[in-house]
Amino acid sequence: NEIILDIKNMKKYYPVYKGLFKKVENHVKAVDDVSLFVRRGETLGLVGESGCGKTTLGKCIVRLQSPTSGEMRYRFDNGDMRDILTLDKQESFSVHKKIQIVFQDPYSSLNPVKTIYDSFEEPLRIHGMGSKAQRKEIIVQLLESVNLRADYMYRYPHEFSGGQRQRICIARALCIRPELMVCDEPVSALDVSIQAQVLNLMKDLQQQMNLTYIFIAHDLSVVEYMSDRIAVMYLGQVVELASSDSLYYSPRHPYTEALLSAVPIPELDKKKERIVLKGDVPSPIDPPQGCRFHPRCEKCQAICRVEAPVLRRVAGTEDHFVACHLVDTLPIELTLQ
Ligand code: SF4
Repeated sequence: NEIILDIKNMKKYYPVYKGLFKKVENHVKAVDDVSLFVRRGETLGLVGESGCGKTTLGKCIVRLQSPTSGEMRYRFDNGDMRDILTLDKQESFSVHKKIQIVFQDPYSSLNPVKTIYDSFEEPLRIHGMGSKAQRKEIIVQLLESVNLRADYMYRYPHEFSGGQRQRICIARALCIRPELMVCDEPVSALDVSIQAQVLNLMKDLQQQMNLTYIFIAHDLSVVEYMSDRIAVMYLGQVVELASSDSLYYSPRHPYTEALLSAVPIPELDKKKERIVLKGDVPSPIDPPQGCRFHPRCEKCQAICRVEAPVLRRVAGTEDHFVACHLVDTLPIELTLQ
């Protein structure tokens, strides 16, 4: 499938102020030189421990945060890829419509004093979608598409369960017909018994509407179930990127190996040994020199302390990329394919 989004060298730094005059003392490097692309219709999973930068990256993609630097090219209707960080206000508005986000917490994502009808009507009206009667019809269809009754539109958020609220949030994100949805931990606030229902619904909607997902989660089983490809993030950077199968059955980066060692994979379970990482994740204000993972890596070598590994294609694979000095990689960095 064609590339729909291509991110190059994206950085998002937050200033850390000090003293009475609020002098910038340092920066939190939340996202630090990330390059990724997403194909139309696929689900790209983003995983990593909390604080690894995955949510910040998601917010930069939907423009809730402005990246400090980098490029983010999006495919327009005429087929051109254009950097959406440099568009004027009018053009930004039209792209904004194509990229939506679903947040983790369905309880705080809906305005408690607005009916569902009002919460849906507003974005439809702002984006000039149909007459009042047509908009109401769209709301009915959207609620039905997430298996909710049409008359629920006159209710308030507190009248729904967590699972129903998240389905409402998904329907609302869909109301202006986006192409790309950033789903930030969309089921982690839900009861386990409800999670599968919402995930399956998201898969069905993806098929029906040809949606592309960027699926952010810390639960690796959920990410594996949802994703075609997965990017593993550590301290603001992508350390491994591969198809879901390749990553789960043949992880190359020691950090990915450690993360996966805690996830039950039936076929591999007997052979697997739990890898317990030493220490905590270092501060993103002052990340370690060389490979950022080296203070916690069992396989660390002298070179790892001084030279930062680059995300390169693993030898003998088509689309498995890793940033580790010990893996046999080709001098091929991540590029559009
Ligand atoms: Fe470990 Fe070195 Fe690979 Fe970093 S580059 S993950 S420290 S082996």
